[in-house]
Amino acid sequence: MNRTRIPIALQQAVMRCLRAKLQLARQHFAIEFPEPKIVYQQRGTSAGTAWLQAWEIRLNPVLLLENQHTFIDEVVPHELAHLLVFRQFGQVSPHGREWRWMMGSVLQLPASRTHQFAVSSVQSKTFPYQCVCQQHQLTVRRHNRVLRGESEYRCRRCGEKLQFLANENS
Ligand SMILES: [Zn+2]
Ligand SMILES: [Zn+2]
Repeated sequence: MNRTRIPIALQQAVMRCLRAKLQLARQHFAIEFPEPKIVYQQRGTSAGTAWLQAWEIRLNPVLLLENQHTFIDEVVPHELAHLLVFRQFGQVSPHGREWRWMMGSVLQLPASRTHQFAVSSVQSKTFPYQCVCQQHQLTVRRHNRVLRGESEYRCRRCGEKLQFLANENS
């Protein structure tokens, strides 16, 4: 998979948002929290994740590029709040009382647990196959190998060859 390149201007916008929100937290707690590391390596359909021990925020580069400032305004503070909650309260429920308070009272944002981005571009597509005993989902890569006649796949349970269910779209 190719690494998605994030334009410098967008990376700067991420850092501006991060620093502005971090500043609010520093003022509120009178603590010089270190700046979290931002990594553009989140895979799959998650917009971002907070790595509490590593003090790191991983952002999904594809969703960032597609949603730009909506993504930044929503995901960066959300993940930062997870780090701050961990630093101040330890291991508590991820979107519980402490997190909601951190979002609302400290970072001055509405606390919504989930993001509403369209994820179709990062959803991995699979293709339905059938053996004798069950249905299977093959990845695009395997499906293409079957179509090109390069590979065939067998069910590990019944040993039968998998057949593509052509008219079932999933
Ligand atoms: Zn969260
Ligand atoms: Zn089977």
